[in-house]
Amino acid sequence: MRVIIMGAPGAGKGTQARFIAEHLGVPAISTGDIFRNHVARGTQLGVTAQRYMDAGEYVPDEVTNGMVRARLSEPDAAQGFLLDGYPRTVTQVDELDGMLRETGHSIDLALCLSVDTEDLVERLSLRARLEGRADDTKDVIRHRQRLYAQETEPLLSIYGARDTLRLVEGCGSVEDVTERLLGALREDLSKSV
Ligand code: AMP
Repeated sequence: MRVIIMGAPGAGKGTQARFIAEHLGVPAISTGDIFRNHVARGTQLGVTAQRYMDAGEYVPDEVTNGMVRARLSEPDAAQGFLLDGYPRTVTQVDELDGMLRETGHSIDLALCLSVDTEDLVERLSLRARLEGRADDTKDVIRHRQRLYAQETEPLLSIYGARDTLRLVEGCGSVEDVTERLLGALREDLSKSV
């Protein structure tokens, strides 16, 4: 299966992506993790990405798209993947569609975690304390939320119009949310058989 997981910053995408990908037997591909890895290794891509990440901005589409194209062409992604944090802009949707079309594929399902805004701020502040991420400060969090609303939320109507969107309530325990996501996946799988 080729699945994407969306949701506002702090909605729990990363945590859930790892569980769901394991369940599906496909790699969880997080663009945020790949960028952070490049930053840690001090690569040229990392140097470029860090400026944007620290400011809570999106890394430019051409940089991000190239990186995703390279990652999706690796052998482990041939049978499917769970994309976490990509696409985030309409241009990235077009680019992803193009990449998949080359191999005769398309996105099977777009899962979106919906979480109350107040909960999001609380979760991100907690993560800031636990993980010390440079982009989890109050101002940057607010900026990332605005950017999500402006640039990424419109993607919901794109996948909604294709009937591949499943909105999943993201509040509650990690286990509860995983169960809901798996429920949405099962429902979709049973429809396609
Ligand atoms: P995340 O871990 O998904 O919250 O991503 C952390 C940061 O990495 C984001 O705030 C962006 O700066 C950058 N990033 C991750 N994915 C993308 C993307 N698809 N497009 C642009 N920037 C991204």
